[in-house]
Parts: sequence; structure tokens; C-alpha cells
Amino acid sequence: MSNNIVIVFDFDKTIIDCDSDNWVVDELGFTDLFNQLLPTMPFNSLMDRMMMELHSNGKSIEDIEKVLQRIPINHRIISAIKSAYALGCDLRIVSDANTIFIDTILKHLGISECFSEINTNPGYVNQEGRLKVMPYHDFNKASHGCTLCPPNMCKGLIIDRIQKSISEVEKKRFIYLGDGAGDYCPSLRLRERDFVMPRKNFPVWDLICKDPSLVKAEIHGWSDGEELEQVLMNLINKIMMEEHVQFIASDCKLATNSICSRSPVIA
Ligand SMILES: [Mg+2]
Ligand SMILES: [Zn+2]
Repeated sequence: MSNNIVIVFDFDKTIIDCDSDNWVVDELGFTDLFNQLLPTMPFNSLMDRMMMELHSNGKSIEDIEKVLQRIPINHRIISAIKSAYALGCDLRIVSDANTIFIDTILKHLGISECFSEINTNPGYVNQEGRLKVMPYHDFNKASHGCTLCPPNMCKGLIIDRIQKSISEVEKKRFIYLGDGAGDYCPSLRLRERDFVMPRKNFPVWDLICKDPSLVKAEIHGWSDGEELEQVLMNLINKIMMEEHVQFIASDCKLATNSICSRSPVIA
């Protein structure tokens, strides 16, 4: 079963209830070093540096995985993801975390197969067993050109790419969910028939509230897992009803047309 709905999720503070980068650093006891280095380099480079620090202090990839497996989540969000998938929605992730963190958590939650695509910074374990985090967009080669977004990732460009990659995009309806400042740019790229679900009182919400008229998509806020599930399922139902009504309408038109074309024969 499939429908015309593409749901794009941010990951940190949207699917999971905290920031996976901060969670790993804090839980393994490296908060002070992290805070010290934070003003000195881009966030994405800092995470790669922190992974090097963890490794040189004897923290293994297994230690990182164990910490990720007990990350705070709201089970209503997991059930919303499973329901949306079961209804035939195309689910994707666009995140400024990294592939290793996201894959580990999704696998642990048993929802990896719900997502058709994960767009994030590439992570891999090198020969010494240290986690390397690379930028999604290699800003050392060239800038992505968007001034709203961090140098390593413009989520708006990813949304553009997804929209272009989908055939019959005019029939697809997008729902975008996020919390952070990085989720503002993709929110601006959505069209009138799309929906954006910003987390209330988080940076993306504040940015949207400054001038909601800049967002073409319909805006539906949420605060916690319960509300996310409720709002998302309502939107999916609403879209499916609309599509169904349209389907019936075009069906009737077809029937009417065939009657008309047959009528001269009957007459
Ligand atoms: Mg986020
Ligand atoms: Zn951007």
C-alpha cells in the first residue's frame, strides 16, 4: 500500500527527545572539553574532533553505541512513525547528526526499515576503531551558497533534491517536522499544498513566527510526543481523505464521460 504523502523528519529533538551529539559527549564525560572547543570551530568539525578525543581516552565504538541505545525517546513518536509507515507514507530523515548515531538508534528502536532515505553527515569507523564524522556538504571544496544554513549542510537543498527526484511531484504532499534553526530553510521550500510541523517554542518555531507569511505550507505546531502523534496522524488522515475524495470525483467524471460517449449509440 502506498499513498501520496512524503514525510521528512529532522532527527535530534524531533524523532529522539535530545541532541544525539550532546548526549554522547555528556554521557561519556566530555562536556567541559566540548564547551571549551565549541567557539573555536564549526559544529560538524567539533564532533569529529570529539570522537578523536573519546578514542584517545579509551572510549570504544561499543561504548558510544551503548550510550546511544539508552537515549531518551518518546514512545508516541515511535508509534506515529510505525503507523505512518503502515499507511504507506514515504518516510525520510534529514539530519545534521551522522549516519552511525542515527543507524544505531533506529536499529535499536526497530524502525530502520520505516525510512526510505537518510540524509545526514557520513560517519564511519576507521582502522584504529575511531569514529570519523565527515561533513554532508564538503565546504572545504565549495560553499553550498545558502546563508541560512551551517556550512556542512543546507537542508533546503536536500528538500529541493527530494522534490526533484520524485516523479509526479505535483501529486505528492510533503509533511516536514523539525525543531532547530536548520529546519527553517527547508520549511521555506515547501509549497502551498504541503505541511510544516515545527516544534513549539524551539528555534524553528521562533523563526517561523517572525513572519509566518514567508512559509507557503500550512503550519501545525507540536510540543511533545503525544501532540506530534496526534497532529501527524490527523494530517495524514486529512490528506488521505482529500485524495480519496478526488479519486472518487475523477472516477465519477470518468463514468459520466463514458456514459456520454456511449449515449449516441444508445440513442
Ligand atoms: Mg533537531
Ligand atoms: Zn539552506
